[in-house]
Amino acid sequence: MAKPIVAPLELFQADARTLGVKWSDGHASRYDVRQLRLACPCAHCIQEWTGEVMVKPELIPADVAPLDLEAVGNYGLRVQWSDGHATGIYTYDRLRAFCGCAACGGPKDPLTLGAAKR
Ligand SMILES: [Zn+2]
Ligand SMILES: [Zn+2]
Repeated sequence: MAKPIVAPLELFQADARTLGVKWSDGHASRYDVRQLRLACPCAHCIQEWTGEVMVKPELIPADVAPLDLEAVGNYGLRVQWSDGHATGIYTYDRLRAFCGCAACGGPKDPLTLGAAKR
C-alpha cells in the first residue's frame, strides 16, 4: 500500500524569489525559485538512467521564475518557467524532500537531489 501522499494545500508567492508551500500535514516550506529550477527532475535536466545532472547552472537566468504552476494528477506539480522550460514535474515527495528548513535537515543542493531520489 502506498503511504498517504502529503500534498500542497496552498502555493503562494512568499516574495519575488520565494515560492511558499503549505502542506496537508501542516508543514510549511519556502523555496528559492532558482534553486527549484535547478532541481528540475525532467529528462532534459537529469539523465534518467544514470542520474547524471544535465542542468547547466550557468545557463539558468538569475531571475528565472515560475510563470505557471499546474497540478498533475494528485501527485505532482508541473512548473512553467520564465526561461521557457516546462517539462519538469515536481512530485510532491520530491518537492517535500527539497524543503530546506531546519526541521527537514537544512538547505539541500538542487544538483544532487536527482541522484538521491532513486
Ligand atoms: Zn527540466
Ligand atoms: Zn521543512
